[in-house]
Amino acid sequence: MAPLLDGRFCRYRVSAEFNERRRDADRYTDGGPVERTRTAARVRIPAAMRLGICVESAVRSCSVIAVRTLFDAYRHTATFTCDGARFLAMAAVCYHGAMPKQLLFIPGPVTCAPEVLEALAQPLIDHRGPEFAELLTRVTTGLQPIFGTQGEIVVLGSSGTGGLEAAVASAFSAGQRVLAAPVGVFGQRLCSIARTFGLEVDVIETPLGHAVDAQVLGRYLAADTRHEYAGILLTHNETSTGVANDMAALAAAIGNHPATVVVDSVSGLGASPFTMDAWNFDIVVTASQKALAVPPGLAMVAVSARAWERMALATAPNFYLDLRKARSFARQGQTPWTPPVSILFALDAALQRYHRRGAEQSYERHARYARAIRAFAEAAGLALFSRPAAHSATVVAMNAAAGLDVAKVRAELREEHAVVIGGGQAELKGKILRMGTMGELSTVDVLRGLEALETVLRRAGLPLEAGAPMRVARAELREELAAAR
Ligand code: PLP
Repeated sequence: MAPLLDGRFCRYRVSAEFNERRRDADRYTDGGPVERTRTAARVRIPAAMRLGICVESAVRSCSVIAVRTLFDAYRHTATFTCDGARFLAMAAVCYHGAMPKQLLFIPGPVTCAPEVLEALAQPLIDHRGPEFAELLTRVTTGLQPIFGTQGEIVVLGSSGTGGLEAAVASAFSAGQRVLAAPVGVFGQRLCSIARTFGLEVDVIETPLGHAVDAQVLGRYLAADTRHEYAGILLTHNETSTGVANDMAALAAAIGNHPATVVVDSVSGLGASPFTMDAWNFDIVVTASQKALAVPPGLAMVAVSARAWERMALATAPNFYLDLRKARSFARQGQTPWTPPVSILFALDAALQRYHRRGAEQSYERHARYARAIRAFAEAAGLALFSRPAAHSATVVAMNAAAGLDVAKVRAELREEHAVVIGGGQAELKGKILRMGTMGELSTVDVLRGLEALETVLRRAGLPLEAGAPMRVARAELREELAAAR
């Protein structure tokens, strides 16, 4: 037996809860009832038990290295035969059950549903084979109603920024002029990407916390009588300020202007209605780790028929993040480069879950949680950063009250309550707190997170009437709470 098994990892007590989890995990390690009988002859129970203990302790200590080392140790022992996929499935089940859970209120990555995490542990498949083609078709078909498009969608192995870069680098040519309407860090990033590829970027300035004024956008475009703008760059949901743009109003303001409209909906898509085709948007980008509640690793890009045609003429330099290559491979059920297959398994599971529960459920849940957090913030004396008509459903940004040490609040929440929230970015660092509503969060989770925040704010000296902010938050969530009783 490998020495590791008698080392520090074996000292942990096996809790009753873990025994339960291990029974679940057995389904994976033994491959189900039929194979179990066959495997039992080869696996000595004490070895299997110790494996469980080791995995538990490794995952409890969050040690990926420990899990890997254990896997290697077991691969070479004669007493336990367990292939990599099964081992990792077991680790995933144990991880989910035994890991001290943090409540993640950061605006991505977010907590994933157990069925999504379990999908990650499926054995890998040939990414040039028929099973992958089916998976890709299922995923892109499942995404279409969420984007509100009948058009083609491609999936890229990258984070959201890669999707945005792919959009710019595939749709435009150096020297073209585009009009951008950033409302925070991520809108500015899209401008930087455009400049990197040699575009001239005219910027509509909007004060932080505000949404784009559709009339101002309309005036810029009306003045562009010679149609010099080849593109319009918009953000659906600006994560850094908790601002959502009114996309229907912006679409109306664009009207018949022929520019290619690129929309960053990385932190918006799936959480509120989005109708790309009806709004005549050309390229819409999202990412896996936000409202779709999948681990990070995938960007998804929906493209209009008109934009595909224009891309044939675009000349910006591009190799890896080329939407045209992605499309031509997607038509054969593949991706140009090796895809993150496991994240696609997870996305597949998440989309099935999303559609089973219904888009409306997702819209309502995000809106309700955001309302509850906003009500809490105002009652706690933390003024909302976003203007009244511009509140996002996926992230609530709150002004730190005078003298509040944002870093300390976040650290106390994390260390003493296992509640993780976001702070400000760039010029808003230290000035705002951000709480996301995305991911596998229940009403009780939201209340737990807010309760912890109230405790920390009171300790920080904010003059709060004990329980008052929680009362208004509970009032926003009362229907759901009543239904749960
Ligand atoms: N755009 C928005 C609105 C975002 O919220 C983010 C990430 O938070 C990005 C773009 C960048 O995405 P990624 O970090 O996945 O590259």
